[in-house]
Amino acid sequence: MRLLIMGPPGAGKGTQAAVIGAHYDIPAISTGNIFRLAITKRTPLGERIKRIIADGGYVPDSLTLRVVVQRLEEEDTKGGWLLDGFPRTVGQVKALDAELDGHGYQLDAVISLTADETALVERLLKRAEIENRPDDNEETIRTRLEVYHEQTDPLIDVYRERGLLIEVDGMGEVDEVSERVLAALAEKLGR
Ligand code: AMP
Repeated sequence: MRLLIMGPPGAGKGTQAAVIGAHYDIPAISTGNIFRLAITKRTPLGERIKRIIADGGYVPDSLTLRVVVQRLEEEDTKGGWLLDGFPRTVGQVKALDAELDGHGYQLDAVISLTADETALVERLLKRAEIENRPDDNEETIRTRLEVYHEQTDPLIDVYRERGLLIEVDGMGEVDEVSERVLAALAEKLGR
């Protein structure tokens, strides 16, 4: 099974990705987590991208693609995967299409978590206090939402046109959202 989960920052992608990954027994792969780990470990990649992430921009496609392609070569991805936070640009969609084609794979579904903008900012500010993420201050949050709307929103239509999109309301308690997501996936995928 090959899935994507999309949604604006703060919509709860990471939390729901973990639930879906466990449910279908596939790895949930988050480019954001890979980048944050690289920054913490101070790898050459981490050093290159830390400013971009702290400012709320997107890591260039070339670097992002390298990370994703490398991760998808690992053994645990053979039975499928769920990508969390990738693709985020039109270029990344094309690259993912090529990667899938190269392996004779197809996407099964794309989950889009929707959320109210005011609630998103509130959630992100709360998360900033708890997780101490460098990109969760108010100014960066605004930038991240703007970048999301400009670069990533259009991808939702791409996947809708392909008949892959499942839109799920991401507001409410985590468990409620998980139930909605799993029910919507079960309906779409028949399992
Ligand atoms: P996330 O944890 O998914 O919210 O990602 C945190 C940050 O990592 C984003 O704000 C971007 O700076 C960067 N990032 C994560 N995934 C991507 C991607 N697919 N393309 C570009 N930048 C990304």
